[in-house]
Amino acid sequence: MTQFSDLGLAETILRALKSEGYETPTPIQAQAIPPLLEGRDLLGIAQTGTGKTCAFATPLISRLLKFPEHPRAKQTRVLVLAPTRELAAQIGDSFKAYGRFAGLRVATIFGGVGFGPQVQALSRGLDVLVATPGRLLDHMTQGNLRLDGTSAVVLDEADHMLDLGFLVPIRKIFAKLPKRRQTLFFSATMPPQIAMLASEMLHQPVQVSVTPVAKTADRVAQRVILIEARRKTEVLVDLLQNPDFRRSIVFTRTKRGADRVASALAGAGLTAEAIHGNKSQSQRLRALDGFRSGRVAVLVATDIAARGIDVEGVSHVVNFELPEVPEAYVHRIGRTARAGAEGEAISLCDHQERDLLRGIEKLTRQTIPSTDLRLAPGAPEEVHVATKKPGARSGRPNGGPAAKRLAPRRDGEKRRAPRASGEGRSRQGEARVNGR
Ligand code: AMP
Repeated sequence: MTQFSDLGLAETILRALKSEGYETPTPIQAQAIPPLLEGRDLLGIAQTGTGKTCAFATPLISRLLKFPEHPRAKQTRVLVLAPTRELAAQIGDSFKAYGRFAGLRVATIFGGVGFGPQVQALSRGLDVLVATPGRLLDHMTQGNLRLDGTSAVVLDEADHMLDLGFLVPIRKIFAKLPKRRQTLFFSATMPPQIAMLASEMLHQPVQVSVTPVAKTADRVAQRVILIEARRKTEVLVDLLQNPDFRRSIVFTRTKRGADRVASALAGAGLTAEAIHGNKSQSQRLRALDGFRSGRVAVLVATDIAARGIDVEGVSHVVNFELPEVPEAYVHRIGRTARAGAEGEAISLCDHQERDLLRGIEKLTRQTIPSTDLRLAPGAPEEVHVATKKPGARSGRPNGGPAAKRLAPRRDGEKRRAPRASGEGRSRQGEARVNGR
């Protein structure tokens, strides 16, 4: 098996990786690090959770050390563009961790916080700058940063960047970079628009693809609960009250939905926080810190707010609503089962969302096992008793299913209820991720 020491990385980096507890390179690291050390361009088709940050950060740091140079004022030697503040902060932290013995100047800049400290960091000059595109352009326009001395650039989560409407800012930023440079381009998916952009920016790139597009993480046990829309909150509370749900992320499609769900959960005595684009930076960081430390058991998030979250030990992902874009399903469930752990993803699917479910199954080439918890129209009690153990009591006043009964089982027991056929078709929504 390939070892980090086989890849040609600088000694100081190997030491840092050891102190991070990394033993062997992940596949993307083994494939990408050697060509990147040679200065090649790279097209990486990989999602977060594959170890891609280390795959690009360590060879770039190695090259900075190989060609020692003092950063010049208002310049950066390496530029990394990330779509969200959370992701930018995490990438910045990774550069600091992997470069901890290398004495590099690393800074992270994003919107929503003051300019002062950022201007100061830029004025001294940087080895590595990690930034979101909007704020970066602001600094460039204000004359706080020039890119003509930048020798390497990374565009991370290109597909997400485009979803967020960053195409124009990205083009403006790239126009200011030197023609001779090393370019790294990462995207979880490669639709034609992204492939075109990549071909404009890259020069004879090495291509590395680790998770085939739309392949869901293998270690995530997936299931669907068919349920009426109005009963979703009740079912969600039941699920989350199970102590197996130690650290869960609940996805909603909209920001307002996230707030509603978080307050319903709080009302049921669960520790839950919503995170989305309407929250202030300090609120988001506080929620994330609480989630990481275990003070908050449930994070309720929109797709966009959650994309950059890298929290280990997420036991469950619950899709309170299915995403409009099937690729987002893959991103969502990739929040669990990270770094070798196992995880479970449960999707609450109502009648309106059946077409979205079909789209997800088609994209991921699988049939997700489903449990039907719908009440028959007009019936006072649940009729689909396939999931009910003999003698199981529903302790809930409205006859809602008890948490234990709903919790996915680890013994692989099949509880699949037959799918209703001939359901009306709901129209698939506009192909954008909502809930920014
Ligand atoms: P990323 O895909 O860059 O978001 O990385 C996913 C997670 O895997 C992060 O928490 C990293 O710290 C961790 N990680 C990356 N590479 C390795 C490795 N070779 N061994 C163990 N953990 C790793």
